[in-house]
Amino acid sequence: MDTRARGALYGLAIGDALGMPTQSLSRERIVARYGARLTGFAPGEADQPIAPNMRAGSVTDDTEQAVLVGRLLVDGGGHIAPTHLASELLAWEKAMAARGSLDLLGPSTKRAVAAVAAGVPVAETGRYGDTNGAAMRVAPVGIAVPGEDLPALVDRVVEASAVSHNTGVALAAASAVAAAVSAGLEGATVELATRHAIDAARLGARRGYWIAGADIATRIAWATALVGGLPADVAAERIYQLVGTSVHSTESVPAAFAVLSVYPDDPWQAVLLAASLGGDCDTIAAMAGAIAGAVHGIQGFPTAAVDTVRDINQLDLDRLAGQLLELRGQAQLNTTKV
Ligand SMILES: [Mg+2]
Repeated sequence: MDTRARGALYGLAIGDALGMPTQSLSRERIVARYGARLTGFAPGEADQPIAPNMRAGSVTDDTEQAVLVGRLLVDGGGHIAPTHLASELLAWEKAMAARGSLDLLGPSTKRAVAAVAAGVPVAETGRYGDTNGAAMRVAPVGIAVPGEDLPALVDRVVEASAVSHNTGVALAAASAVAAAVSAGLEGATVELATRHAIDAARLGARRGYWIAGADIATRIAWATALVGGLPADVAAERIYQLVGTSVHSTESVPAAFAVLSVYPDDPWQAVLLAASLGGDCDTIAAMAGAIAGAVHGIQGFPTAAVDTVRDINQLDLDRLAGQLLELRGQAQLNTTKV
């Protein structure tokens, strides 16, 4: 299980870093510059709107915020206090801005941390948060919490997400990613992990505030069926045009599962394809990478790719994976006792 936990965190970081230079660009622009599919890490070009002149292999907010969530889970013995998460995210954004970064908090999280700072009760701060910020940083919850009891896992997703993303749409999306990671750690294939994700999305959709938006569970099932059997480059066009690659949970999260269904047995090709889609493709690749890494273990990625993200970014993902697995072990022990 250790290799799978590390695979989830490194997969997230690898996908994120691959998508760093392509994020927020149109697919047409990505194809013109890099070809139909990326072949590896690339630097952020000077005209990259969010990550100009960043070194090849640099991770972005997705990995940094997932690590932040992971660290808070470890510090809290498996639980996260919503106000603590909000203050840590705010501190993270300030540190990023001080470093001159343009990669700051997304729309839902930004609104939520401002509301928390203004004294709005935490039950209210995430009531309009429907974008993919919770799903992009939730993988550590999937490592720390066993998935056999899906409602219990969804409870922990809500605990780690609701301060900024307290809507059925966003909680369904985050539940899907966490459940897929958790199932992967238990040895599920991509196909089985996707089924768990759909079940968890149905549960998550009933949590938080209702907000208009397509059904995440239905869209994951639809998006994976849509690309079944298609050549990868045709699938990429279809995901881009029909599923969508925006920061909205209803697009980017089904897109990540669609990519996985194109390459269920090849995590590296899956993240390369995801990072080539356009739109919020660093986040799509980060979510796909976390799930693929959980399913296949860290050995599913080229050693050189793992070494690159480890060397370029000062992140101790190996240690965090071990700590999150300890929490999972404790949770399983407690369940057995009951
Ligand atoms: Mg990002």
